[in-house]
Amino acid sequence: MLFGNVIGQEDVKAMLRRLAKANRIPHALLFSGQQGVGKLAIAIAFGRYLLCENKQEDDACNQCPACRQSLKWSHPDLHFSFPIVKKNTVQVCADYLKEWYGLLGSSLYFGLDDWLDAMGAPDKNALIPEAECDSIIDQMSISSYEGGYKVMIVWLPERMNASAANNLLKTLEEPSRNTVFILVSNDTSTILPTIMSRVQEIVFRPLPTDVIADALVRRNAVDEGMARQLARISGGSYLKALQLINVNSDSVAFFEQFAQLMRKAYGRDLPALKEWAEDVTAWGKEKQKAFLDYCQNMIRENFMYNFHRPELNFMNDQEAQFAVRFARFINERNVKGFMEEFSRAQKEINHNINSRTMFFAMALQCILLIKK
Ligand SMILES: [Zn+2]
Repeated sequence: MLFGNVIGQEDVKAMLRRLAKANRIPHALLFSGQQGVGKLAIAIAFGRYLLCENKQEDDACNQCPACRQSLKWSHPDLHFSFPIVKKNTVQVCADYLKEWYGLLGSSLYFGLDDWLDAMGAPDKNALIPEAECDSIIDQMSISSYEGGYKVMIVWLPERMNASAANNLLKTLEEPSRNTVFILVSNDTSTILPTIMSRVQEIVFRPLPTDVIADALVRRNAVDEGMARQLARISGGSYLKALQLINVNSDSVAFFEQFAQLMRKAYGRDLPALKEWAEDVTAWGKEKQKAFLDYCQNMIRENFMYNFHRPELNFMNDQEAQFAVRFARFINERNVKGFMEEFSRAQKEINHNINSRTMFFAMALQCILLIKK
């Protein structure tokens, strides 16, 4: 991955090149911003640029021995750390490198769900374990093999627990020479303030609609009209646009379960709601969270539907048909309650709660809310 292959983000690329040329690279950078805007892609491009032995004006040369090693993911001074699901023999990221490089090789725009799938653990909660932080510290405390920079890219540092993060803090406070940490985060709100104060943050903005549309046409052979439409509803995330290309089985199932929940809550059908909670519990945790995102989205869409401003609505045909009858049940008295309920449930999933009980309780709240 070169800067030239990263979609948009020209201002960030220019800033990083400037820092490198002036030899003023902070030893710890934090790339923040929503998922799917190219933070990881730029982190890798920047890492390769730093390690390149024959830097060109704007990019790595892609030909020198260092670049060739980077391309094969075998450069000894380019390291990665990321959330993992622990299994018996698997305790640190090094045990997952084959899967990790496999995923990076297929695309640099992916989410945690894609990574969980690649690890063969789609319904698990992935964390950066304490043992991994120790291994980061070990790797970064020895000097670089090639005498130049040593780069550690930490993907999703928000998935580190507090004691692991505290261990890492020391290394961030007293870095060895020429080490560069690049933390790539989708959500900085849960990163320890002490870590935040040690890093220089670079905020990535959502990608403009025309940049995403152009990428979809050139990279994914999407026709222009469709590309513009997808780009418009992607919210500035190329990854979201890619996910929208495949109206996958998930979104059909999500619509079905959302509609069921609302119908059964309206009918106060407790046994059916209990069954509903069991069905949703059968999904993995990440899918449950995605579903609750979808529920919030549907509540928002149905609330907006009442204003008769079609340009504010982004529903597919099936959802729009449902809204014709359903939207009038979502109003200013209950819209906030519904949103809070779904968002609270989402947070609870992160803790080890009994999902079945939690979803049933949530469904009971929907009975109360829908009648408001
Ligand atoms: Zn090179």
